[in-house]
Amino acid sequence: MTGVHAIPSPPPHALPIAGSEELFPVRRVYCVGRNYADHVVEMGGVPDRSEPFFFQKNPTNLDPSGEFPYPVASKDVHHEAELLVALKAGGDSITLEKALDHVWGYAACLDMTRRDLQAEAKAAGRPWEAAKAFERSAPVGPLHSATEVGHIRSGGMLLKVNGEIRQNADIGQMIWKVPEIVAHLSALFTLAPGDVILTGTPAGVGPVHRGDIMELSIEGLSPLRVDVT
Ligand code: MN
Repeated sequence: MTGVHAIPSPPPHALPIAGSEELFPVRRVYCVGRNYADHVVEMGGVPDRSEPFFFQKNPTNLDPSGEFPYPVASKDVHHEAELLVALKAGGDSITLEKALDHVWGYAACLDMTRRDLQAEAKAAGRPWEAAKAFERSAPVGPLHSATEVGHIRSGGMLLKVNGEIRQNADIGQMIWKVPEIVAHLSALFTLAPGDVILTGTPAGVGPVHRGDIMELSIEGLSPLRVDVT
């Protein structure tokens, strides 16, 4: 719709791009659940290749500041180390073969989770928004274009908290690979430029506390350092 807005409207939320003055504007944030077998097991599930499932965060939850204020309403906030995939093109019913043509680039990201609220939601069969889509719940490193770093199909992902290794995996261990995720998502939603996807976390998720320092590195991408305040 064109016309004058009745209230002030915010500009699109946009993220830093490594080595560039340009920003990446974010439209939607999709997240994949249960995408690494060892994490499925640690959460009490059985890994399989049944349909991947998705939930969403809000664009403004993505936070490049390097600071994670401990959120309200929880006493058990966990880190989940994830590869973020940023789309430059959209559509629906995207084929597996064409899926990577829609990918602009990648970043290191944390899907911070209020685990206590998630456990309550799971037990009650309720949605996960309160556990997942809270303020500043997705600290994110600078984006890198696939033109610069290539498409990421494998490579180490390491998350340390206060220098201690918590999550140590390889991107290649994903149950649903990036092209499969894009294809599946596009069968459920009409994707568009600016959509980003958090691709799931491997084993080793755990709590953080005020004063902790989280350091996430993914091979080929800028590392992400986040202070819990
Ligand atoms: Mn996650």
